[in-house]
Amino acid sequence: DRMVSGELQTDDTQVEQSLRPSTLAQYIGQNESKKNLSIFIEAAKMREESLDHVLLYGPPGLGKTTMASIIANEMNVQFRTTSGPAIERAGDLAAILSSLEIGDVLFIDEIHRLPRSVEEILYPAMEDFFLDIVIGEGSSARSVRLDLPPFTLVGATTRAGLLSAPLRDRFGILNRLEFYNMEDLSQIIRRTADIFEIEIDAEAAGEIASRSRGTPRIANRLLKRVRDIAQVQEEAQISYETTKRALKMLQVDQHGLDHIDHKYLLGIIDKFGGGPVGLDTISATIGEESQTIEDVYEPFLLQEGFIQRTPRGRVATMKSYEHLNREVNNS
Ligand code: ADP
Repeated sequence: DRMVSGELQTDDTQVEQSLRPSTLAQYIGQNESKKNLSIFIEAAKMREESLDHVLLYGPPGLGKTTMASIIANEMNVQFRTTSGPAIERAGDLAAILSSLEIGDVLFIDEIHRLPRSVEEILYPAMEDFFLDIVIGEGSSARSVRLDLPPFTLVGATTRAGLLSAPLRDRFGILNRLEFYNMEDLSQIIRRTADIFEIEIDAEAAGEIASRSRGTPRIANRLLKRVRDIAQVQEEAQISYETTKRALKMLQVDQHGLDHIDHKYLLGIIDKFGGGPVGLDTISATIGEESQTIEDVYEPFLLQEGFIQRTPRGRVATMKSYEHLNREVNNS
């Protein structure tokens, strides 16, 4: 597993529950989304209605699940979770929907991976709170309408564009989560340190923040590993020196890039003259799945200006050449 992947890893699951903020006020950063949501939540509560359906999108590890659970908490309703790949048949979803209570939040992670047949029963459920289910088979099959309590669907996906238009159109609130800035990440790291009951100096927290790819999940993971190393050295407060040494050992560079990013960027530079080169070609060259490259690794490289996306493929920028000590070859 990569240290700097925003995707959930088995090691993360043990601690994440204890690290999840439970109110909007405790949720650090994402001010646009928070402001937006708090207005909608307040209005729904005033009208004593369920909150409109919410779509949260952005790279893994930025806090979509956390935000969904906060919505349920702020609305004082139950939080039910499932995911696109977990729902194989229409009946699976019908069972979940018919067990909901008034106002509940149903969170569907990776909602873009819902099978089409399942997606279709969601449309009337989202729009008018009913299910059309078919009972029996062949000539005796008949359709039964089942009313549902009003509920709030919160969907999460890495890119809004992965959703079919009819599904996307049924969300009233669309929130795009952004990579976090250094200040917010430092604050998240200090909060996590508090929960772990460890001391860390400000510079050390800043150093972890700057290598966390704008992603809280990565920040928390790096902090855990740095803590282990500091503990072995019997350091009462995690110092800047130890942090730097630990991150070097973990092979995470100053920008939060690891050997796979280096392989990716050097692939473009050394094998394809800096690009443009197509995603599938890169995928074959470095042996990583196209979808993972596109959804997990590239967003940060794009945002930080290491690559550009053009109609003919990916291009490595000057910043990549400089960072990896490569000469630009114009011949
Ligand atoms: P996603 O669903 O987008 O993959 P999660 O909501 O699971 O991301 O967030 C991963 C972890 O990062 C959470 O367990 C939480 O500890 C932490 N986290 C995410 N966003 C925040 C935030 N805004 N403030 C504090 N911690 C956060």
